[in-house]
Amino acid sequence: MTASLVRVPFLDLAAVHAELRPALAEAALRVLDSERVLLGPELSAFEQRWAAATGAAEAVGVGSGLDALTLGLRALGVGPGDEVVVPSHTFVATWLAVVQVGAVPVPVDVEEATGAWDPARVAEAVGPRTRALLPVHLYGHPVDLDPLLALAAEHGIAVLDDAAQAHGARYRGRPVGGLAHATAWSFYPGKNLGALGDGGAVTTDDPGVAARVRSLRNYGSTVKYVHDEIGVNSRLDELQAAFLSVKLAHLEEHNARRARVARRYAEGLAGTGLALPVVAAWAEPVWHLHVVRTPHRDALRAHLAAAGVEVLVHYPVPPHRQPAFAGTPLAAAHLPVADRLAAEVLSLPMGPHLRDDQQDRVIEAIRAFRP
Ligand SMILES: *Cc1c(COP(=O)(O)O)cnc(C)c1O
Repeated sequence: MTASLVRVPFLDLAAVHAELRPALAEAALRVLDSERVLLGPELSAFEQRWAAATGAAEAVGVGSGLDALTLGLRALGVGPGDEVVVPSHTFVATWLAVVQVGAVPVPVDVEEATGAWDPARVAEAVGPRTRALLPVHLYGHPVDLDPLLALAAEHGIAVLDDAAQAHGARYRGRPVGGLAHATAWSFYPGKNLGALGDGGAVTTDDPGVAARVRSLRNYGSTVKYVHDEIGVNSRLDELQAAFLSVKLAHLEEHNARRARVARRYAEGLAGTGLALPVVAAWAEPVWHLHVVRTPHRDALRAHLAAAGVEVLVHYPVPPHRQPAFAGTPLAAAHLPVADRLAAEVLSLPMGPHLRDDQQDRVIEAIRAFRP
């Protein structure tokens, strides 16, 4: 067998499911045999476990990461006419959530070298209508939260962090999730902690915010058939909660395996000319994605595809260039770094089940690339 026959998947979800199959099957049967499929004991148990894991006082399970963002914003009092500062380089859901609550996203471009926010530029974007900052722990690398929390305190506004890609990440030794006013999580299957369907959660230390999300996710109701506000139907169901409790027990180990993959990439790709991910001294990232940069991105992508290596781009179209925002002031935003990143980033295969021989194949193929 030649090395070229080693096919390398971007993320091997089947291997995750195979590894945990008996426990996932037992969890499914437990729900099947119970009387409860919504807002029951599996959800309460998972919410307690997720709060403990993230160091937050409370966790509230919702239907998706996008809903975690929108309900988190609403619970923090963000609404029509407000402005929310968002990063230029993120998954579109970060911006969509702001629009969905009737507020206006105010994008701040990220720094070229790190893809992170410069707090000084965020400060310039804060005006009289700003109600919240919405930083994103993109690719699993935590955001430098302290300057943002200080800025928010100075202006009396909130910080909601988008942790959809950062399950288990630590900032200055503390887990992401209990650091800002509220934190939004996604349990989309491909995330570091993923369900077998859609799911999300809001974590917070503020009991008022938690209670508000609990009400909003359930038709704005806390007493059956009494509706205090215009809520939605967005509940993390019992089946997904039971699956998530199984997978949560393996999160740390799976993140450690991802970190090992990242170390092997750092060694194997040194000197190739690719810009490799930068890790801040205070950060413990969880390597949701392993993203490199090159001006020859499209050629490298084609070269790797031909070698049987599945790579992806996160993301090829920045939020301000999305057709959904055409004709709005967002489309006119000047965000040159986001534009460059969209043209140059490439996500290499990454996951807890990427085998050494598969990763070596990726590294060899990249080393053989001549632009
Ligand atoms: C996945 C993701 C979301 C949305 O989560 P869903 O569960 O897919 O709705 C939001 N923000 C970021 C950064 C994400 O990666």
